[in-house]
Amino acid sequence: MTTTAEEPGVATKSGKFVYLFGDGRSDGHHDLRNLLGGKGAGLAEMSSLGIPVPPGFTITTEVCNAYYGLGRSYPPQLEAQVRDGFAHVERIVGARFGDPENPLLISVRSGARVSMPGMMDTILNLGLNDATAEGLARRSGSDRFAYDSYRRFVQMYGDVVLGIARDEETDTDPFEQLLAAKKRERGVEDDTGLDGAALRELVGEFKQLIADRGKEFPDDPWDQLWGAVGAVFDSWENPRAVVYRDQYGYPSTWGTAVNVQAMVFGNLGEDCATGVLFTRHPSTGDASLFGEFLVNAQGEDVVAGTRTPQPILAVDRAPGAPPSLEEAMPQVYEELALACDRLERHFRDMQDIEFTVQQGKLWILQTRNGKRAGRAMLRIAVDLVDEGHLSEREAVGRLDPEQLDELLHPVFEEGSERDVIARGLAASPGAAVGKVVFRPIDVVELRKRGEDAILVRDETSPEDIEGMVDARGILTARGGMTSHAAVVARGMGKCCITGCAALQIDYAGRQFSVRREDGSTITVNEGDTISLDGTTGEVMLGGLPLADGEFPPEFDRVMEWVDAARRMKVRANADTPEDAERARSFGAEGIGLCRTEHMFFGADRILAVRQMILAEDAPARRDALAKILPMQREDFVGILRAMAPYPVTIRLLDPPLHEFLPHEQEEIEELAESLRATPAQIQRRVEGLREQNPMLGHRGVRLGVTSPEIYETQVRAIIEAACQLGEEGLEVAPEIMIPLVGMPEELRLLRERTTAVAEQVMTECGARVGYTIGTMIELPRACIVADQIAVHADFFSFGTNDLTQTAFGLSRDDAGRFLPSYIEQHLIERDPFVVLDREGVGGLIQIGIERGKATRRDLKIGICGEHGGNPASIEFCEQNGFDYVSCSPYRVPIARLAAAQATLREGLRPA
Ligand code: ADP
Ligand code: MG
Ligand code: MG
Repeated sequence: MTTTAEEPGVATKSGKFVYLFGDGRSDGHHDLRNLLGGKGAGLAEMSSLGIPVPPGFTITTEVCNAYYGLGRSYPPQLEAQVRDGFAHVERIVGARFGDPENPLLISVRSGARVSMPGMMDTILNLGLNDATAEGLARRSGSDRFAYDSYRRFVQMYGDVVLGIARDEETDTDPFEQLLAAKKRERGVEDDTGLDGAALRELVGEFKQLIADRGKEFPDDPWDQLWGAVGAVFDSWENPRAVVYRDQYGYPSTWGTAVNVQAMVFGNLGEDCATGVLFTRHPSTGDASLFGEFLVNAQGEDVVAGTRTPQPILAVDRAPGAPPSLEEAMPQVYEELALACDRLERHFRDMQDIEFTVQQGKLWILQTRNGKRAGRAMLRIAVDLVDEGHLSEREAVGRLDPEQLDELLHPVFEEGSERDVIARGLAASPGAAVGKVVFRPIDVVELRKRGEDAILVRDETSPEDIEGMVDARGILTARGGMTSHAAVVARGMGKCCITGCAALQIDYAGRQFSVRREDGSTITVNEGDTISLDGTTGEVMLGGLPLADGEFPPEFDRVMEWVDAARRMKVRANADTPEDAERARSFGAEGIGLCRTEHMFFGADRILAVRQMILAEDAPARRDALAKILPMQREDFVGILRAMAPYPVTIRLLDPPLHEFLPHEQEEIEELAESLRATPAQIQRRVEGLREQNPMLGHRGVRLGVTSPEIYETQVRAIIEAACQLGEEGLEVAPEIMIPLVGMPEELRLLRERTTAVAEQVMTECGARVGYTIGTMIELPRACIVADQIAVHADFFSFGTNDLTQTAFGLSRDDAGRFLPSYIEQHLIERDPFVVLDREGVGGLIQIGIERGKATRRDLKIGICGEHGGNPASIEFCEQNGFDYVSCSPYRVPIARLAAAQATLREGLRPA
């Protein structure tokens, strides 16, 4: 598989480690995202477009890989190129790095090829020390500004580079504690209320804190620089980045770039500001600017949620709230709106933009395709097509299949009673019910016990990521629509409410209280159940009933484009008529896997099934099967009817028989009574059927070989059902699938028996139905001898769950003990049960198809493992000429889109 770092030799192949940008020019451009990271590529592109971007340079992702390849040190040629980069910036800005008279300050910014919000750390105002801070104060004429910048720098450096940890008990940042203490001491509410003298004291206290923790704050700007660059590279492998990457399946080999950029200052007075915005609404997709800003602030203040930001548009301002950007700085607003329009037209997608205003001058610091909720994704796609920015095919290519998933996420049942205790911002749509917890680690714990959690915090930060992934919903007291919690939750399609100011959280007491709108106060304890409505921003006591979500109005139109672009068929795995109907409403074109064993577990039939299994001889077994036959026939009637005229692949019984037997004493006694046997007799039979390795045991076709009556009954039920429906005039297409075939002779025998029963039933019914017989390919041997198996098969359906188990020689049930550690140590990048292992399992599949088709050119090929709903695996199926993929009903829309995208990528036209 892949290793963490590429060979340093590979990384140095181009020899160019540093790409300059600024002053209307750049070395790089947007297509170099993999090398420059998303942020660096965006800065380069904007600079070329003439958008005002502070000058700087990007250190490439190749250097990150080289850094790891060299045991966390830099390739020797890097330093000279970085020095040249500084010369470029100094020339444009007219200041010098480390010059006490006129110091250049820079930011050091991480940036991977995809946006990973908050995963990597950014350091602002680098280059400050006691001497340069004095110089900055003199030149700017503002002590407050110089020492505000300095204290921010020391704080970020301490946090990110020197690793000054949070205070565990109170769960607070020690720098923030000192800052809060200073505000109390000076009797001010806001950071902006602290004067230069207070901030200068704070710098001293911050440095003392660093020294007390046994760390050293470097005074030399160059030491600061290299420390920061190393910290960015190191952050690529920090636990929260790794968790995020795993969540999205990004490989560690991508690496991060580092951007070094001249600072512009949003904290230089009242005509300065910093903000973030989306060019369209990220939750609804509405075509108007949506964002927030803060006056006299810097960098992450908006995202951190420490002060409540103001909206960009006047219409978004609440009555009595401070002015919007449109009102407060109309000229800047005009310029910003123009830049947004240009960037959206250029990238032909909704943009997420970060900006800073220094003394009335606008600077754009970042642009990227904005994350959006699933609903907004469809709305924006439709609008971009209607506005003529994108063709339908291009729009299809840009959708994220996984995001369709959230459209079906639950909503609250209409008309249910709502005990609303508080309201916040509707940051990410959806409905969530769960137990209140305050620490991310507790979310993970609850989840392990199979319980749902709502993570409640003042605000979230990147280290909370693991808990956020596992939480049903997220509720924060602070932060706006672009806070960390909001952005991350939208990206994950998770319900989230932010800025719920009525919340008073007591972390130590593990409770929160809210002042209700009627003035009373209510306390909610950890473990209490609450409900969040991420679409309205309402927080409710208790668990409201949930219902299925509905597709937004744009869904059908977009899916028409999708289906027009798609070659493969998409089927669903469904075992009941209800599932079949649901799958059909999601666009399934058949059933790829109908598991008959699920029918055996029904309360009304398990007894007959057990009787059948425990029968001492063939007549007794037939007796029991006679009871099962009509029930099975009804099952198949229902499913075939729901799917007609589409094909339904029915797999004959697969699991080892002991799975159907009781193991609890009480159940054994019940069974004994109804079978007129003693519990001891039953116990003996249960023992007798126990297997050492049931996964490789007496199951699949082996059952068919040893107990022919079972399969015969099932085939009879299928054909009788088909005849019955045929009489009603319905066109049905059952496909009978024999599981776990490894030897051609097995299938030859079973085909013979199946055909005999089918013919007999048709004669009895005086009707003919079209049916086919095929096999599930799930053993390596079956792939190798596929040419011989195909002699007896009309179709192959790759059962990739078992094929993955048997190819790797590992059982899925036990994989949990070591697979996570394999992934952590990068022995393997992805869980092969989630994403098809193309090299090994995929290689077997390719052999199977090639040999099978050599015997039988019209052999129908499908996939019915879990992988059938996974976009990366679907792409593999497209590339290998599958006829269809099959997945769970809820994933059918995802599979349709993923299949269409795979067709488009392959440059194929649908047949
Ligand atoms: P993230 O990836 O977390 O968004 P960024 O590198 O974009 O991190 O930095 C966060 C914020 O810091 C930016 O949105 C911007 O407000 C501020 N920032 C970064 N670089 C500069 C700079 N050169 N001048 C002014 N502000 C900056
Ligand atoms: Mg950040
Ligand atoms: Mg940013």
